[in-house]
Amino acid sequence: MNCEFKRKLPIPKKVKAMYPVTDKMREDFETRDAEIKKVLAGESDKFLLIIGPCSADYEESVMDYIDRLRPVQDKVQDKIIIIPRIYTNKPRTTGAGYKGMLHQPDPLHDSDMLEGLTKIRKVHMRALRETGFSCADEMLYPENYRYLSDLLAYVAVGARSVENQQHRLTASAINVPVGMKNPTSGDLSIMMNSITAAQSGHTFIYRGWEVESTGNPYAHAILRGGMNAQGQNIANYHYEDLMKVYDYYQSKDLKNMGVVIDTNHANSNKKFLEQIRISKDVMHSRRVNKDICSLVKGLMIESYIVDGAQPASCGTYGQSITDPCLGWEKTEKLIYELAEEM
Ligand code: PEP
Ligand code: MN
Repeated sequence: MNCEFKRKLPIPKKVKAMYPVTDKMREDFETRDAEIKKVLAGESDKFLLIIGPCSADYEESVMDYIDRLRPVQDKVQDKIIIIPRIYTNKPRTTGAGYKGMLHQPDPLHDSDMLEGLTKIRKVHMRALRETGFSCADEMLYPENYRYLSDLLAYVAVGARSVENQQHRLTASAINVPVGMKNPTSGDLSIMMNSITAAQSGHTFIYRGWEVESTGNPYAHAILRGGMNAQGQNIANYHYEDLMKVYDYYQSKDLKNMGVVIDTNHANSNKKFLEQIRISKDVMHSRRVNKDICSLVKGLMIESYIVDGAQPASCGTYGQSITDPCLGWEKTEKLIYELAEEM
């Protein structure tokens, strides 16, 4: 190999022992986990809202954002369960650009993986300790999952990873809900196959061990839109798309039917303001069709403090340095409107 083995990193057990969760954090985590699973099991009418910046770039502004979600969650708690996005590792279309807090704990400085590994745990811990929110992250690197396994309420397998065997097998071993996104091509059968794989038990190699999983009954779908062979964006949040996924679920032997609609990415074509209209369109489809109502368990919205996105070098506080996000005022208003529509 042409890489230098720079240093051996501490195993997850060691990092967890250095930064352990308290009994109160464990309790909050478990209470929320049970509530979220009830939604996916169809035992609760509440709606999941996985919401937050595309990437967790700076601890201070991410915590500021999550602090703002807390009183909003308290006001809508009868209807909506908010799961903040703290996305600490970012897949990049060409490999270039900011790869997230794991690689770059400071977006303006070079990679430091040891610092990054501890920092992502510290930020997820801060959110749970200070706000009671256990949060969502993308599982871009399956072998890193255990650094955060006692903190994450929700795990997403991204559009570029969902066809990958190791992601599917690791998802099958995870105890919390895992959302499998449709791939960038938009092919729904790949997404549905990944749910089948994640719900089944497997024997595989994980962090140098032979392991056996029992399957994850809470693996479900996330629709994020796709791109056709001509490079055009094809949305997949419309009524007809949802019916198609409903039919897929009916034809398969899967547990806990569920779809989360990602309102940004190829659904909005990254026109972040469209997320407001798309969210309401999905709520309308739920209202007019009881099958869609039982299928669609939540929304995923990219939102931060300031509207839009910027190059990392600009330094506007609370504005995304990856995908453009809905700013705070519009976000807060939207959450109350969604609660009204339920
Ligand atoms: C994201 O959620 O920011 C993301 C990278 O999503 P996708 O995998 O759908 O591109
Ligand atoms: Mn994004």
